Amino acid sequence: MPVFLSVIVPLYNEEPVLRELVERLTSVLSVYRDDYEVILVNDGSRDRTLPLAKDLCLRDRKVKLISLSRNFGHQIALTAGMDMASGRVVVTIDADLQDPPEIIPEMVNRWKEGYQVVHGVRNKRKGEGIFRHAAIFLFYRFLRKTTTIDITVDSGDFRLMDRKVVEELKTMRERNRYLRGMVSWVGFRQTELEYVRERRFAGETKYPFRKLARLAADGILSFSRFPLKLPMAIGCFCTLASALLLLCAVLANLAGPGKAVPVWVYGLLLVVFLGGVQLIAIGMLGQYVGRIYEQTNERPMYVIGEQVNFEPAGGNAGPDG
Ligand code: UDP
Ligand code: MG
Repeated sequence: MPVFLSVIVPLYNEEPVLRELVERLTSVLSVYRDDYEVILVNDGSRDRTLPLAKDLCLRDRKVKLISLSRNFGHQIALTAGMDMASGRVVVTIDADLQDPPEIIPEMVNRWKEGYQVVHGVRNKRKGEGIFRHAAIFLFYRFLRKTTTIDITVDSGDFRLMDRKVVEELKTMRERNRYLRGMVSWVGFRQTELEYVRERRFAGETKYPFRKLARLAADGILSFSRFPLKLPMAIGCFCTLASALLLLCAVLANLAGPGKAVPVWVYGLLLVVFLGGVQLIAIGMLGQYVGRIYEQTNERPMYVIGEQVNFEPAGGNAGPDG
């Protein structure tokens, strides 16, 4: 049966925090009486997360569990949760209580004001190293500069989404998922809610720098054309600059034997010129690869927000209600 609110929590080795998490969620969500569900997604944990989660499900029918057969990664775990969620409103939250569940009712209030997406935006981070912090800060600024969509800076995966948004995301089956970007891509009315990011309640981060870097790469490769344009830009620069210098060298030679340019300079400039031409060719290939990527990731071409005076189109494109 559909409920009003679904809360999705991905779990990877979260045994030390799980009990506390479900307690805090249950007490915050009690204002919605029975009209909510908590969906735990076990992402192939190697500790006792799974039996503990099953135990919690036995005690409270509103706590549900999906257990993936192995570790598929945070973004895919969230996707599995969204596929199963029935809520009119869906919230995704990390298990470690870095995102305070107490903010959820505030997010729901924003939704009531008419927003379809509410991004939790962290205005402070506690308990994260300065290097990690700086890398994340720079990454978001870079992504924002180089992408055409309006990606929310400094938002994690603590966010509220309306059913319409979830239905759109469910149609996007790309394998390398960067949900923050995908949610921004979908559009609709989006807003931000600031909160202070706490320390991890227990356990340690499941995002070692390697995984974080992969997520960042997914973000940039899926939502920015910058890497494709780079060879073209460098190639054009090399070609133009070397062609100009070659011209200067020839003119200098014509001007008189005293100003003659040594032959090796010609050789060098020719090599740079050819390198530039090759880079341009790679850049052109890149443009095609970019198009092939866009065609194969099977995103819908556009998303309808509302429509007026049309027969209600089956499912996700109809007006409110
Ligand atoms: N997580 C997951 N699969 C993974 C890695 C992480 O489901 O492969 C979950 C993890 O249990 C947590 C959330 O994703 O609920 C965010 O992970 P974490 O808190 O370790 O990331 P950080 O806050 O350090 O960036
Ligand atoms: Mg965390």
